[in-house]
Amino acid sequence: MSRVEILIAAMSLFKLHPSQKRWLWRLLFGAIALLIALTPFTPAPAQPSFPTPQAHPLPDFIQRLPQLEADYFAEIQTTPLGYLMWSHFPVTIYVQQPTAAEVEDKKFEKWLKSVDVAIADWQEYFPLVEISEPDNADITVLRQRPQRDIQVDRDNQRLIIPDARHGTARYEFYLTPTEPPLIQHRFTISLSPAQNAKHMRGTARHELGHALGLWGHSLDEDDVMYGLQVRRPPPISGRDLSVLRRVYEQPTQVGWAVVENSAS
Ligand SMILES: [Zn+2]
Repeated sequence: MSRVEILIAAMSLFKLHPSQKRWLWRLLFGAIALLIALTPFTPAPAQPSFPTPQAHPLPDFIQRLPQLEADYFAEIQTTPLGYLMWSHFPVTIYVQQPTAAEVEDKKFEKWLKSVDVAIADWQEYFPLVEISEPDNADITVLRQRPQRDIQVDRDNQRLIIPDARHGTARYEFYLTPTEPPLIQHRFTISLSPAQNAKHMRGTARHELGHALGLWGHSLDEDDVMYGLQVRRPPPISGRDLSVLRRVYEQPTQVGWAVVENSAS
């Protein structure tokens, strides 16, 4: 028998005046409310908790990159989970292959060659390996015009339409099926075939730079990560590499394990 039940039973023993009863009921409800307030709340169902942001061990190839005083690290953006960087190497990349009908397509061949050269440009500094199957690739390069995302400006009754671009890079997060699960990301690059070889290569190099960790734009047109298209796409600069090095020195939640809180 609970304390409340005892109290109710005790009340029924006495014949009380209605006003006294009302007073007693008020006291009873007050006591119950107080009891509820003081009872430790029941925990919500188990939710995985975020890893503490920390830096990954600096790989050798990153340590070999230059450290420059003046670079554009300040332009690099973080994600809701911190800086984007890889923590397993080599990073795998899948490049869209021609279908049987496209094998003879010279334009497709030209596109493939431009992407391959851009990959080779980065391979000088970064362990990137091309794989022949799209499954589980860290980076996927698709031969398509980038999708133009539009935003609706409801207040002014208009659509915000960005300029058409030749390349875009997008990332998404996922949990690895390991124990414990790790927060990982994968990149999808859309690369338009409607450019000359020189510019396709330049755009591929730029979008790959985003995918490797340069999530921002340089303000200097001599850097691969300059935000606008230039007449002569520049090679990977010391500043690009210096920024990449600084990104990998940062703490992040990407690549670390989530902690599954046990329900108690
Ligand atoms: Zn960009």
